[in-house]
Amino acid sequence: MKLETKCVQAGYAPGNGEPRMVPIIQSTTFKYDSSEDMGKLFDLEASGYFYTRLQNPTNDYVAEKIAALEGGSAAMLTSSGQAASFYSIFNIAGAGDHVVASSALYGGTYNLFHVTMRRMGIEFTFVDPDCTEEELEGAFRDNTKAVFGETIANPSLVVLDIERFAKAAHAHGVPLIIDNTFATPVNCRPIEWGANIVTHSTTKYMDGHDATVGGCIVDSGHFDWMKHKDKFPGLTTPDESYHGITYAEKFGMGGAYITKATAQLMRDLGAIPSPMNAFLLNLGLESLAVRMKRHCENAEKVAAFLESHEKTVWVNYPGLPGNKYYERAKKYMPDGSCGVISFGVKGGRKAAEEFMKHLKVAMIATHVADAHTCILHPASSTHRQMSDEELKECGVGPDLVRLSVGIENAEDILEDLDQALSAI
Ligand SMILES: *Cc1c(COP(=O)(O)O)cnc(C)c1O
Repeated sequence: MKLETKCVQAGYAPGNGEPRMVPIIQSTTFKYDSSEDMGKLFDLEASGYFYTRLQNPTNDYVAEKIAALEGGSAAMLTSSGQAASFYSIFNIAGAGDHVVASSALYGGTYNLFHVTMRRMGIEFTFVDPDCTEEELEGAFRDNTKAVFGETIANPSLVVLDIERFAKAAHAHGVPLIIDNTFATPVNCRPIEWGANIVTHSTTKYMDGHDATVGGCIVDSGHFDWMKHKDKFPGLTTPDESYHGITYAEKFGMGGAYITKATAQLMRDLGAIPSPMNAFLLNLGLESLAVRMKRHCENAEKVAAFLESHEKTVWVNYPGLPGNKYYERAKKYMPDGSCGVISFGVKGGRKAAEEFMKHLKVAMIATHVADAHTCILHPASSTHRQMSDEELKECGVGPDLVRLSVGIENAEDILEDLDQALSAI
């Protein structure tokens, strides 16, 4: 199946006379005829369902669709993108371990790594995604267990050189984990460029309708854990909490990572989505390919318009010719990047505040990457306690406006931006 077909048809495949739509199995538990039957499931001797905290059929159908879209061997849904980022690393790293991460990250991910996971004893070294070979090489330690980055970083829109980071990770015997939220598998499939694990905040384009918070982790099935046995004891030595199963032996390269994440992390930490939310996510996925095309077409028009507007100072969009990442974006995302743009309003904080007051189509919201055009002026909302100097230091200048271009008619979006800019 081609990608557009997978968006609609991958995952759930109804049999004769069964519902056409993914059924919502809204049940915490599952019934068995004998204790032996259920015992086999507990021992991971047979696959099946017994309790929704571990696995649920609706969730699994939708995870299977995302695995197919990314070209992975297995996937699991999580209750949020944050849970996906956390599990993706915690599944292979613990206290005393170390991770190399790109410094161009979503703020929530940076906080998770830099504050919360550090408190758990995992150290992170953040590297500039465009650092020298020497700096990248120097970031690795003997106890490094993974490398993490975002295809298109939220909100800086830095495009990661995935091949380069994959090469560095593999040279040190560790997997590359890529957060592919902004590009989605419609525009980029990191596994094809060497990534081993892909994560998503499905809250964004995948759901696409502002309806559900969720996340997903996809395993490529390409990382040979046994080849680096000493680095990943959680996968390559017996798990006493599962009767001495060694995941990498029993489930192989294609199944070990996701089975461990399910059997241990979901069992113990429990960040599962509700089957209802998985159903809604699946509705979004069905139109993902069509929507991404429209998001990119609209954003390209809006970026070009903003660049030529006399009331703007700068425009940052990887799909805009002349952008620092234009060539790299063309390589990794030949069909388009994403719908998110940032730009500077002439006149700084005051002018940007005034501009925001006049918008009618673009809605003020902290959200990005869904059907509705959303807009945010951090200096007067999320970052309002900070001075102009402090804002500049964290890369969010007082004039910066973040615009997430939706799938409305582009002319309405352009007209709205034009009248609001003219009103300054
Ligand atoms: C939003 C976002 C997250 C966090 O996802 P939630 O679903 O909000 O928990 C992680 N990574 C990126 C790139 C995001 O945009």
